[in-house]
This record gives sequence, structure tokens and C-alpha cells, in this order.
Amino acid sequence: MRDLVRKAMDARLLDLLGLWRAARDKDAVMDAATLFADHADHLLVIQAEAAGNRYTHYGSAFARHFGADLTGCVIDVLPTDVLPPERRGMLEFEYTFARGADRPIWRSYTAQFDGDVTETWQRLVLPVGENRLAVGAYPVEGMGANGDDGATLLRLVIDRVPVVLDDDGGIADLALSLRAFCDTRLQMAELEVLATRDALTGVANPRHFHHLAGLELEHARRMGRSFSLLALDIDHFKRINDTWGHAAGDEALRAFVGSCVQALREYDILGRIGGEEFAVALPNTGLDGAKVIAERLRRLVEEMVVRPARGEIFDMTVSVGVASHSFGHSPNPEGGVMDVPELLRRADKALYRAKDSGRNRVMTAEG
Ligand code: GH3
Ligand code: MG
Ligand code: MG
Repeated sequence: MRDLVRKAMDARLLDLLGLWRAARDKDAVMDAATLFADHADHLLVIQAEAAGNRYTHYGSAFARHFGADLTGCVIDVLPTDVLPPERRGMLEFEYTFARGADRPIWRSYTAQFDGDVTETWQRLVLPVGENRLAVGAYPVEGMGANGDDGATLLRLVIDRVPVVLDDDGGIADLALSLRAFCDTRLQMAELEVLATRDALTGVANPRHFHHLAGLELEHARRMGRSFSLLALDIDHFKRINDTWGHAAGDEALRAFVGSCVQALREYDILGRIGGEEFAVALPNTGLDGAKVIAERLRRLVEEMVVRPARGEIFDMTVSVGVASHSFGHSPNPEGGVMDVPELLRRADKALYRAKDSGRNRVMTAEG
């Protein structure tokens, strides 16, 4: 098995794995940036903090490919145009898994970079001490031409599911589910919180929000009921950061969530979609009901004041877009499929209109 890994793994990742194993054998404290200095361009170092996973090193190869240097950025709050939801989901799974299992994880992924160039990259995620991960990734060169069926098969496997490596560089397992790597129910629950919750505010992360909202929408479809979504964006949030500082901005986000929860019903679903952008799914709620809830939320946020640990108190406002669909009445609006992304798109459009017409207001998709 170890030989097979050696044949299927990109040579540069093999080198990384060798460096990691040598340091681990010595039981040395791993300084990832020094240890993997030769791979700096193709290296990410990720530090788990209260605010979420932060890139403390972002290799220039990634900056080139994804068009931005994300050094210092918190991964969990990157906007979806920088990190699409499907890639974010996979990354979160990988990081949570590698940390929980304390083992290297190896996989490949094929994606379109720079518009239309499709490339396959292999990634190796290495746990390097307390709350830190190092990730090496390289575009694969000359794949599959060596006629070794085992290696080819293994490459097909890592295209579909991450592989967990043992300390000797062999295959320990396939990373199919988090459950396989948790000894206790408590651990499992902790990992699940990590994988589903936004670290700063505790509300659903984008992937989990889409999952929960999707379940509710399907339920509404089956039962012929109404379903609504709100898109929320805090007004002039950049100004809050600029005036009161980033830490106060973080406190404002938590206070904002507090007001939202107060305005919502127990079964409504609140998620953080991006930095200061949130969404709410309102099960069994038509347009009129959604407007009432949106207006209540807007008013509560307007009336609230943020009292940061340090500095003066300040207030904020929010703009809201509402989109609603009644499955009982119009089964096929505009001919398209009605799902969460489509409703969110409509709510977003309404949100932009709310911003355009002066902010601190609720607008509906229907006009
Ligand atoms: P608009 O009313 O048009 O929405 O203006 P805006 O300033 O709210 O919008 P913009 O998108 O320009 O700025 C959003 C800001 O939110 C920029 C970013 O630095 C900040 N931000 C994103 N995530 C976080 C976070 O986790 N904490 C803090 N403190 N700020 C964040
Ligand atoms: Mg915004
Ligand atoms: Mg904003």
C-alpha cells in the first residue's frame, strides 16, 4: 500500500509528507513555514482561532490561481465569489477531519481556474500542532500515463474522497464521514458544531443554512405550502469597522444576531452567508407574514445599541430583501425550478433595491 501511495502521490507532496514525518518522529514543535520553506509558494498554513480558520500563510501559487492574496483572511467569512459554497464545504470537512483525526489527508480535485482552464490538483493536509494545519497543493503533471492500474485506481479514489494516511505513509482509511474518527459522542457533537456553525456568531454557516433551508423548502413543496427567504445586509458596515475598529465590528455582528433571534420564531433558520450578510428561511410563511417579520427585525436592529467591551456605544441599521413562494398556488413560476438558490437570488435582488433606495428598509422581490 505504501508503494502504491508513492506511485500515485505527486512527487512534491511526497517530499512534504517526508518532511512532516521526520519532524513528527523527532517530536519537534513544528514551525510549518520553516519546515516547509521549499514549498512556500504552494503552501497554506491555517490557524484555528475564535473567529474561525485563518490563513496565516497563503502561497503565491494560490494567490495567482484564485486572483487574491488571502493571507490573514478568515476562511469562514470569505465571500462566495472568492470561495464558492461547494469548495468551502469540502475545505471545512477536510480541515475538521484532519484536525479531529490528527492524521494527514490526501485528495485531488479538478476545477476550472482562470475561467476555462480545467486542472487537477493534489492536496495534502497535515496537522502541525495545536490548532494548526499545513496544506500543500500542486497541479498534477502527466497523470495516468504510467500504466500502473493500482496507482490509476488510487488516483480515481482520491478524486472522489479524501484518503487518510497512517504514520508510515500508507493508507489508513477513507475520509467518508466524521463519525468514523470520533471516539465519543461528545467529540462527534463538537466536530458537528465546528462543521455547521459560524464560529463568530454561532448561527448556521452557509453550507448548513442551505442544507436546512433546502429541507424546509422541499417540505413546503410536498405539502403545497408557502416558504419565504430574507436576505439581510448590515448597512455601511465597513464604516463601523473603520470608525470603531474590527473587534467592535465583531461585537456588532454578535449583537446583530441577538436582535435577529429576538425577532424570529423558534423554527425560523438564521444563517451567516458572508461577512455582514445573513439569510433567514421562514418555513410555512407567505409574503405578508414574511414582510411583518422582516419589518420587526429591521426595527429591532435599528433600536438596538452595541456596547463594545472597549470604546463608545454605537448603533446600526440593516437592509432586507424578501422573496416568497407559495407552492399551493403557482406550481411553476416563470417556468423555472423554485429552490433555495433561486429564492435567495430573488431576495438578493430585492435587497439591492432596498440599498439603492436609501437602506434601513424592507423590499420585496415582487415590487
Ligand atoms: P452597504 O451598506 O452597501 O452594505 O455597505 P457595507 O460597508 O456594509 O458593505 P461592504 O461590502 O463595502 O463592507 C462590508 C465590510 O464587512 C467589509 C469587511 O471588512 C467587513 N467584514 C466582513 N466580515 C467581517 C467580520 O467577521 N468582522 C468584522 N469586524 N468585519 C467584517
Ligand atoms: Mg455586503
Ligand atoms: Mg453591508
